[in-house]
Amino acid sequence: MTRDQYTFTNPAELYTDFAPKKQHQPEPGLDSELQPQADLGEKTYRGMGRLAGRKALITGADSGIGAATAIAFAREGADVAMSYLPEERADAERIAQIIREAGVKVLTLPGDLRDAAYCRDLVEKAVEGLGRLDILVNNAGKQIYNEDLTTIDDEQFDDAFKTNVYAMFWITKAALPHLVPGSAIINTTSVQAYKPSEILVDYASTKATINAFTKALAQQLAPKGIRVNAVAPGPIWTPLQVTDGQPPEKLAEFGAQTPIGRAGQPAELAPAFVFLASAESSYVIGETLNVNGGTPTP
Ligand code: NAD
Ligand code: MG
Repeated sequence: MTRDQYTFTNPAELYTDFAPKKQHQPEPGLDSELQPQADLGEKTYRGMGRLAGRKALITGADSGIGAATAIAFAREGADVAMSYLPEERADAERIAQIIREAGVKVLTLPGDLRDAAYCRDLVEKAVEGLGRLDILVNNAGKQIYNEDLTTIDDEQFDDAFKTNVYAMFWITKAALPHLVPGSAIINTTSVQAYKPSEILVDYASTKATINAFTKALAQQLAPKGIRVNAVAPGPIWTPLQVTDGQPPEKLAEFGAQTPIGRAGQPAELAPAFVFLASAESSYVIGETLNVNGGTPTP
């Protein structure tokens, strides 16, 4: 390894050769087809035992932010249960292999989060397979841009809320009886929660809901010793963006509007999830950790 996440570097000069081209993939998209490839930390993330012996369930763990988080958790010593869609098997298998190479256990549990029965079964299988559960990362998400509200059909609106909000509710509800004091729940929200784009009305609404859910539930569970927090990414290079998350012609300038002047990579998100999962953040509760290249937040 030449560089790892602790190497002293100028963050404005990281990934400066990154140049996304105009491209498009059908949903849910594959990391393996992204041009250029995203950095999931495969070559750079160095574990320090910060999650030794922990048991984590991560949704959307096949690609993007969830995959980078899964790799980081594994290298920090956690066993990982991965949720993803069956179509994403190739991406998921690659991440599962990296997790195995870290010397921890991995479970691959494909299914559709819009289905409440799958969400409940996912939790049961994770608990059964890992023996316990003490980290839950609700990270899967759906984002489809739309310039005109009158053309968002009910199915699209429903899908966005089912995937981004209902699944988080179903999974968290099913997981709670299993979570012991010391456990952590981390939800992936977005800068869209408070700086919504005009073309992401439904998506931004789901992300604002996730923030409120996180802060309300955090207060309810704090006395039980279960911490609930959120990570709010800015523009990050993942399959979500090339599967109609953004208009394809806008991809070339993706992330350029941030103060740091570039898009983020999934590898730059993973340490935020590690921090919120680990016992070192014991007094951090109901917080939204923004990882967005400098965009001011409330
Ligand atoms: P991604 O496409 O790599 O990950 C999203 C994952 O969600 C998919 O891999 C898929 O496994 C899962 N998913 C979607 N629909 C599903 C369904 N019906 N059933 C099961 N799984 C389903 O993209 P990402 O950008 O890493 O997204 C992860 C999270 O980050 C999402 O919640 C997204 O909203 C959030 N986010 C991303 C950005 C960004 O710029 N990429 C910015 C802010 C927030
Ligand atoms: Mg994926």
